[in-house]
Amino acid sequence: MKFSGNLIKMRSEYTNPVTYFLKLGDSELKMNELLGKLLLLKYTGIIHCIQCGKRTSKSYSQGYCYNCMLTAPQADESVVRPELSKAQFGIARDMEWSKENDLIDHFVYLSVTSGLKVGVTRSHQLFTRWIDQGAAQAIKLSCTPNRHIAGITEVFLKKYVADKTNWLKMLSGDTTHQINLIDEKARLLALLPSELQQYSERDNTIYPIFYPVQSIPDSLYQISLEQNAEISGRLVGIRGQYLIFDDGGVLNIRKYSGYFVDFSIMD
Ligand SMILES: [Zn+2]
Repeated sequence: MKFSGNLIKMRSEYTNPVTYFLKLGDSELKMNELLGKLLLLKYTGIIHCIQCGKRTSKSYSQGYCYNCMLTAPQADESVVRPELSKAQFGIARDMEWSKENDLIDHFVYLSVTSGLKVGVTRSHQLFTRWIDQGAAQAIKLSCTPNRHIAGITEVFLKKYVADKTNWLKMLSGDTTHQINLIDEKARLLALLPSELQQYSERDNTIYPIFYPVQSIPDSLYQISLEQNAEISGRLVGIRGQYLIFDDGGVLNIRKYSGYFVDFSIMD
């Protein structure tokens, strides 16, 4: 079976294990069913902007053409650095978009990826965000009325906790069990200034996340579609936005958003 289309971040559902879907053209592949199967993926050399759909010679900010990188609200600096959001002052690339995406409840959370990590997400994106980063478990820390306040909370906590994930350690999955998220949450909330403490989240549920992984090869390497336009291998796991193959190659689907590929299931 062969499918063609522009790669786009896999959709996920918070089930045990996580269920992944990959949309390609008019099809949506149920990725969990492909575990153990031999896959062939060919990058055609064509990239389409995930915003406007136009062909672009290069992908900017994981899938945008140059123009959309500069203008699309989804590609604004505040997407990566929430503290820069100015929507609360009525300033944004597109205020209508910001009303639905910046001026809404946000969570600051703690998760365990390659170690303890702090992050920010729109409230309705909570599980998607945790799954996309490959978290093994997570807890809500604060609930804020807009993106900016969540962002400055995160900036404050970055002094004490990492905000980045080491993909290799995360996928190897050997770091996860010594961290007590309830203790860490209490410790970090106590460090916040009172004007940020007021947004503390009462829900102390620890959400565990399990991924569809059959086995993890001993040594892993990142597959580059730029350098290797054709890859094939048996799919042994999916975690975060990574496909893990039996030879240790891992493909970050999100990184190649907009790349037009042919995708074949060989057996
Ligand atoms: Zn574009």
